[in-house]
Amino acid sequence: MTLWFDPTLCLIGGQWRGTAQQISLIDPSDGSHLAQIARGGVDEIDAAVAAAQAARDGDWGRMPAAERGRILLRLSQLVTDRVDDLAALEAADVGKPLTQARADALALARYCEFYGGAADKLHGDTIPYLDGYTVYTLREPHGVTGHIVPWNYPMQIIGRSVGAALATGNACVLKPAEEACLTALAFAHLAQEAGLPDGALNVVPGFGAEAGAALSAHPGVQHLSFTGSVATGRLVQQAAAQNVVPVTLELGGKSPQIVFDDADIDDALPFLVNAGIQNAGQTCSASSRILVQRGVYDQVHDKMCAAYNALTVGPADHDLRVGPLISARQREIVTGFLAQGADLTLAAHGQIVDAAPEAGFYVAPHLFADVPPDHALAQKEIFGPVQVMIPFEDEADALCIANGTEYGLVASVWTRDGGRQMRLARGLKAGQVFINNYGAGGGVELPFGGSGASGHGREKGFEALYGFTSLKTVAARHG
Ligand code: NAD
Repeated sequence: MTLWFDPTLCLIGGQWRGTAQQISLIDPSDGSHLAQIARGGVDEIDAAVAAAQAARDGDWGRMPAAERGRILLRLSQLVTDRVDDLAALEAADVGKPLTQARADALALARYCEFYGGAADKLHGDTIPYLDGYTVYTLREPHGVTGHIVPWNYPMQIIGRSVGAALATGNACVLKPAEEACLTALAFAHLAQEAGLPDGALNVVPGFGAEAGAALSAHPGVQHLSFTGSVATGRLVQQAAAQNVVPVTLELGGKSPQIVFDDADIDDALPFLVNAGIQNAGQTCSASSRILVQRGVYDQVHDKMCAAYNALTVGPADHDLRVGPLISARQREIVTGFLAQGADLTLAAHGQIVDAAPEAGFYVAPHLFADVPPDHALAQKEIFGPVQVMIPFEDEADALCIANGTEYGLVASVWTRDGGRQMRLARGLKAGQVFINNYGAGGGVELPFGGSGASGHGREKGFEALYGFTSLKTVAARHG
C-alpha cells in the first residue's frame, strides 16, 4: 500500500519527528508486514505534553470558540474528501471490510462536523442567588487531555474523544494502538491542513506499557480518556488517581438484545446478527447475547441459523460481511473461548472463503443455542464473532438474565408492548437502551458509556462537551 505520509513519525508541537525504535504493523488479512510506525516512549510523551501546554498557553488557548468550530468543520470536509483513502488505510490496518471502514471514515467526518458546530454553543448559566449578587458558571477546558485509543475503531474513537476535546479548547495528546494507528496519523495530517495550531493535537504512537503508561501517569495531563480492556482501564484509572485527574473509561461489554414473543422477528433479525458480527465482533458495544422468549425461540433460532450459514469471512478488500481478527493473539483468545464452548450446542457457523490467505487471522462466526446464562460464553467479553442464544420465560426472567453480568454498556428490547418498553428501559443496566433497534457504535449525537466493568463517564453527543470541560462558579457581590 502506498502511503501519502511517513508513518514512522510522531506529531509533536506541529513537527513530525522520528523515534529511536519502531514498531511493525501487520496486515491482519494476510499476516504480511504493512508499515513501520514510531515507537514513542517517555521522552516523546513529555515533549507532546509540553507542546500541548504551550498550545493552551498560546494561540489555541486564546482562540474564540467559533474559530475552533470552523477548523473542525474544515477538518470534517477534508476527512470527507479523503474518505476512500482513509477507508483503505483502516481496512488494511484493522482488517475491516471496506464498507465498514468507509462507514467509520464518514463517522469521523460527522464527529468533526457535530463538534465543530457545537463548539460555540456550549455555555454556562446564570443562577438566582442572594439579593445583591450575580452568579454565573463558566465551562472551561481541562487543559491538556490524554487520549488512549484501541485498535478496533480508531477513526470513530478519535472522532468522539479528540473531536469533543478540541471543540471545548483542550490541547490533546493522542496515543493510538500499536496494532493499528495509520488513520490516527492520517487524521493528524488533515488536522494540520485544516489549520489546527501547532500543539493543539499531538500524536505519539507506541506500546501501551511505554507511551500509554507514560501518558496516563503524566502530571501535566489534566484529563484522560481511555477506551480498551478492563485490565488496562484499571491501570489508567490508578495512574489518574495519583495525579487526581478525571478519567473517562470506555471498556467492554456483554450487551444483550431481548426478543419478546410479540416482537417483529423479521424486522429484528438483521440487527440481531449484525450487532454480533460487525467488525468481526471486535466491538465494545457488540451484542453478544441474544435473549429470546420461549414462544418465539425456535423461530428466532432457525432464522439466525440461516443468517449465520450465509455469512462469509475473508480479506478486508473482498468486502464480505466479516473480516479477519486484528492479530494472531486475538485469534488465540477467541478460539480459546470456542474451546470452552465444547459443552454447548453449536447452532450454526459461517464460512471462511477459500481465497482467505492461510496467514490471515480468520475465525468463522459461531452461534451457540440454549446457553445457560452463567456459562463463560454468556458472561465473558469474547471480542470475536461469537453470539449466544439464551431462552427466557417472562419479563422478570429477561431482566434478571440481561443484568446478570459484570458489564452494563448497551441493551435492546424487541417488543410492541409500550409499557414493557418503558419498564425495561428503566430496569436495564446499560448506558444506552435501544427499543426495536440496536446501534452498535452508531449515533454520533447519542451519549455513550457504561456502568460496572463497562466503565464510567460519557462520550459522544453534547454530553461529551460537559465531560471535556470543568465548571467554574463565579459569585459576584455588588450590592
Ligand atoms: P488494551 O486495553 O491493552 O489496549 C487499548 C489501548 O491501551 C492501546 O492503545 C494500548 O496501547 C493501551 N495500553 C495498553 N497497556 C497500557 C498501559 N499499561 N497504560 C496505558 N495504556 C495502555 O486492549 P488490547 O490489548 O488491545 O485488547 C485486549 C482486550 O481488550 C480485547 O480482547 C478486548 O476484550 C478488549 N478491548 C476492548 C475495547 C473496547 O472498545 N471496549 C477495545 C479494544 C480492546
